[in-house]
Amino acid sequence: MGAADSVPRRRTSRQVWVGNVPIGGGAPVSIQSMCDTKTTDIDAAVAQIARLTDAGCDIVRLAVPNMEAARALAEIKRQVTLPLVADIHFDYRLALAALEAGVDKLRLNPGNIRKPEWVRRVVAAAAERNVPIRIGVNEGSIDRMRYPEATPEALVTSAMEHVRILEDQGFGQIVVSLKAFDVPRAIQAYTLMAQRTDYPLHVGITEAGLPWAGTIRSAVGIGALLAAGIGDTIRVSLAGDPVEEVRVGWEILKSLNLRSRGYTLIVCPSCGRCGINLQATARQVDEALRRRPAPPREMKVAVMGCVVNGPGEAREADVGLTGGNGLGLIFRGGEVVRKVPQDRMVAALLEELDRVEGADAR
Ligand code: SF4
Repeated sequence: MGAADSVPRRRTSRQVWVGNVPIGGGAPVSIQSMCDTKTTDIDAAVAQIARLTDAGCDIVRLAVPNMEAARALAEIKRQVTLPLVADIHFDYRLALAALEAGVDKLRLNPGNIRKPEWVRRVVAAAAERNVPIRIGVNEGSIDRMRYPEATPEALVTSAMEHVRILEDQGFGQIVVSLKAFDVPRAIQAYTLMAQRTDYPLHVGITEAGLPWAGTIRSAVGIGALLAAGIGDTIRVSLAGDPVEEVRVGWEILKSLNLRSRGYTLIVCPSCGRCGINLQATARQVDEALRRRPAPPREMKVAVMGCVVNGPGEAREADVGLTGGNGLGLIFRGGEVVRKVPQDRMVAALLEELDRVEGADAR
């Protein structure tokens, strides 16, 4: 990486398509999440996918634990626009049914399917439909008889065994993930894999935790890899609302200038000059932004503590607010455009935001 605001140089990887979303081959790093609803509860899954879409999710995965879930995928697919990934373990019939239902990608480890003939059928059906397969190895799931320790080398070797099964059948639309909870281990595993193959990599830290700690672990792990140019698609795994995973994913990508979309909230750290209740105001703005669909470009919204320095310090913000002496000031591009009573300033900021977004849309 060169200057601080430059974009990390990306590893060259092959490209696969998940529905209309490319992964690898220089495509923008895509953001994935996974529904935590029952796949058989079609209305709940569709509603959650709509929220994920609004938050800027690119690809969504659903668990397929049984045939009823596999069949539900067809109706879910009909009602949503995001490409769907079917998460399958062991049972090849579920994979065939998910493909039949029209999913755009499978997450499945072919080495876990017992008979070679069954693997052949799944691979043939995926190839016929141009559907890629993600091999997902993680430290909890590798064969401990053969790999007593989930070292980075063990994760990579295990993943390569699954890869070879697909390659032996002439199938090359492969994405690989090697997730570990241990961040340095995950970084080393992905780094090794990036040296050994040119398949696109799905990067994540597994079981990262509750949102606060999980966000930090994911940002450190995924961020370190992306900063080194490794990673074609990401998933932040958090115990909580999957929409939060997408928001965190965006913040990671925006932090590295890899993608720009949605709201970025800038808040000054506050100091003795502060003329508003900064924390409470910033929270109010944050909550209001979360309720709005993510705009198609990055929109910077600033909450600054004082009139003297705030607008200037947040010059790059699209819109912002600050205040002092009971007044709230709304600014754009470093210039104050409105003065309102302080109890109206959050509403006035949102009105200004509507104006900017309206102008963008025209
Ligand atoms: Fe202090 Fe004002 Fe800067 Fe905030 S914007 S840190 S209140 S000088």
